Amino acid sequence: MLRALAANSKGKCMKRVVVLALWGLFASSGILAQRLPDNVVPDSYNLKFEPDLSSATFTGDETIHVHLQKAATAIVLNAAEIEIKEAWIGSADFKQAAAVTTDEKNETVTVTVPTIVPAGPAEIHIRFTGILNDKLRGLYLSQTARRRYAVTQFEATDARRAFPSFDEPAYKAVFRITLVIDKGDTAISNGKIISDTPGPESGKHTLQFSDSPKMSTYLVAMMVGDFACITGGADGIPIRVCAVPEKKDLLSFALLSAENILKFYDSYYQTKYPFQKLDIIAFPDFSAGAMENTAAITYRETLLTIDDKNASVDAHQAVVGVLAHEMAHMWFGDLVTMKWWDDIWLNEGFATWMSFKPIEAWKPEWHAERNEIQQTGGSLSTDSIASVRAIRAKAETPAEIATLFDGIAYGKAASVLRMVEAYVGPEVFQKGANAYLEKHAYGNATAEDFWNQMAATSEKPVDQVMASFTQQSGAPLITVKTACAGGGSTGGFFKKKKIKETTKVTLSQERYFADAAKLGSGSQEIWQIPVSLRPAGSAETTYVLLAQRQQTFELPGCSPWVYANAGGRGYYRSDYDAATLAKMSAELETSFSPEERIHFLGDEWAMVRVGRLSLGDYLDTLEKMKGERTRALVGVMTGRFGEIHDTIAAPPDRPAFEKWVRDFLGPIAAELGATPAPGESDDRRGLRSDVFATLATYGRDPELLARSRALVEQYMRDPNSVEAALAGNALSVSALEGDAALYDKYVEHMKTAKTPEEYYNYFGALGQFPSAALAKRTFELILSPEVKNQDLFFGGLLTNVDTQAAAWELFKSNFPAIKEKAGESLSGGFATLAGVFCDAKLRDDAQDFFASQNLPGSERPLQNAKDEVNACIELRSLQQANLSGFLKKLPAKDAASVSH
Ligand SMILES: [Zn+2]
Repeated sequence: MLRALAANSKGKCMKRVVVLALWGLFASSGILAQRLPDNVVPDSYNLKFEPDLSSATFTGDETIHVHLQKAATAIVLNAAEIEIKEAWIGSADFKQAAAVTTDEKNETVTVTVPTIVPAGPAEIHIRFTGILNDKLRGLYLSQTARRRYAVTQFEATDARRAFPSFDEPAYKAVFRITLVIDKGDTAISNGKIISDTPGPESGKHTLQFSDSPKMSTYLVAMMVGDFACITGGADGIPIRVCAVPEKKDLLSFALLSAENILKFYDSYYQTKYPFQKLDIIAFPDFSAGAMENTAAITYRETLLTIDDKNASVDAHQAVVGVLAHEMAHMWFGDLVTMKWWDDIWLNEGFATWMSFKPIEAWKPEWHAERNEIQQTGGSLSTDSIASVRAIRAKAETPAEIATLFDGIAYGKAASVLRMVEAYVGPEVFQKGANAYLEKHAYGNATAEDFWNQMAATSEKPVDQVMASFTQQSGAPLITVKTACAGGGSTGGFFKKKKIKETTKVTLSQERYFADAAKLGSGSQEIWQIPVSLRPAGSAETTYVLLAQRQQTFELPGCSPWVYANAGGRGYYRSDYDAATLAKMSAELETSFSPEERIHFLGDEWAMVRVGRLSLGDYLDTLEKMKGERTRALVGVMTGRFGEIHDTIAAPPDRPAFEKWVRDFLGPIAAELGATPAPGESDDRRGLRSDVFATLATYGRDPELLARSRALVEQYMRDPNSVEAALAGNALSVSALEGDAALYDKYVEHMKTAKTPEEYYNYFGALGQFPSAALAKRTFELILSPEVKNQDLFFGGLLTNVDTQAAAWELFKSNFPAIKEKAGESLSGGFATLAGVFCDAKLRDDAQDFFASQNLPGSERPLQNAKDEVNACIELRSLQQANLSGFLKKLPAKDAASVSH
């Protein structure tokens, strides 16, 4: 699954794609679920559904072929919000009517028969009815202005809302699905349609789908309505990309991407694409980003349907990136599935790690390898608070399981895999990964299965490395000290021997905390860390395994510095003494790769956060990198400007910081020009729109603010006349000082938008208006029927420094309505919003508010949120005066440069 992105970054959001507030969209109600008893194992399900779209209900009929390990009179299955009409259990020639008891709290039903059923094969037959809900889970209702659709989203624990089932990932089975639907409608499922017959009633037809492979319940998919598809294929596998007919013209780029990605995966994986076909379907109401149902990937429209000719570079990259993630799941997740949800990272970490590879192969000019290092940096940042969970974490209830779909399962797990891949070498890693997939195909696996295989293939202690990074929370900080030894000579006059020169590298590890008081307080964790060392002036990397608190290693020759994250793929922070750091930053442009420079800046910022490096020195390092023109690097360099402007700088210092931003970025903006040149690279186009947004937002460049208003007017007249990303940024920038009249225009254009990108360009900008009255209108709009239940985005309003306090009051007073619209199931995810603040009063108020709501699964997110707010407050107290001092020195600098 691709989760919706969390909106807890500090500062204003400039991204056009609205920051999605909810990762917890899948959270289930607060139940102490128990695992099913393990005496019954399903082999196959015969499932027949008849949805009634007009009454929003469905009827179902199922036969489950099971195997009883021991004789029993009762069988327990998962079921929720389903009414059972009839049940019986058959074995051999004996069929018995069954009594059914329901345990709502545990989401189970128990089917009991009077006479004992012997061990061995048996079948359970159940007839049932259910509701097509509007809460985006189970079998639910989706709609356009024109008509209704029935669609599914089952991960993690919602298959039980569509049919009584053994709804745990280890109970893999074959699914034979039949759908009875209205004449004129069509349907899509995991298998191909193998028969289509009229009836049983008039006005209906019956579709039967081919048997699914052996798979987990959460991967079953069904969609009913009038989808429009475009078709293609790769390597003999037919591919269809589908959406509601209104969006049919927006599918071509997704199809082209899917074909390229499938070709790549067929060359990477030893097992070719394991299913008969691949369907990719977007529909209008969808909680997650996308979902990897076996051979039937489902999607939020905005991530799949784009106007290939006019969409932004970012929109194109999002389509390829998300498809690459979901298609990677066909192997990691669908073919081989984690045994239990505590190892969900085996799905999500792998799909996230893998998703960059087909992009690097197909679109090398996008430099996805740099985005990989950015992702590692983001994960290290998430991982820096004290209450963060370990990659592998216990989860039993649906609400606990839902909280595992977080930045740790996705980003951190991917980053650890990236480090291990670099350590054993990509070819060896590929071999090990394939051996693991072959061994567990159509089955389940645990973390140990993976790392034991990788250790055996690589003959390196990958098992110990991965266990230490998977089972301990947090990430290491490695302090690097180097000293030259040797040189000179020994021995007497006649036997003079030159002593070889070496560099002694002493590495010590401790857990990195963003909380300065905790860092250096003697944490207990010890990691097994593959550290990649590269001496000055060398292109060669030497791997050492840091397995103790402190170890010394020797490199040949005397080197003035040794960089301890060569290639930038290590999942750790590193720290050097000031003199070494100065030498290294002087050579950043010449001796470090772009990936290393990205990681280097991340390390520096980590030191700023804990006060080991002054913010002024950090900004000085940025000034040394003024010549950077690659998008990812400039993005990393300017990525902290929002945080500095909105949360670190004292309000009276903001104008001086804005001036510094103008001086820093102005020359780059001038060089890029206002509009794209013909034949310009995607990287440069993206860079222009990023620089424009940063310069206008944090530099408050008056010329750019005026230009952005002109771009907005032009975009409103003709959306195709302005580059889409530039337009999105212009909308946000203009909103910063926008009034009610401009707000009205945004709402009007949002409602008539022709593409999802255009819609979210307007929607995302609404949160940037500075007035509390307009913030109130945005709340009302989001809670009205005009905005879909999938789009409950409050992150922008809550991170906008101008409206934050007012927006928080609105959030609290509207929470009953928010909960009603979202459904009880996802409200636990809102607790992450308690982390957007940088203020003690708001922190305490948010903590009290969410705690008083007793939202299922909100405990850990709430603790994480508190740690994040505290880290932000501390960062401000450590660096505010320092920033002030840095800014005060600037005019003198300017005068000096003028006088020359
Ligand atoms: Zn996923």
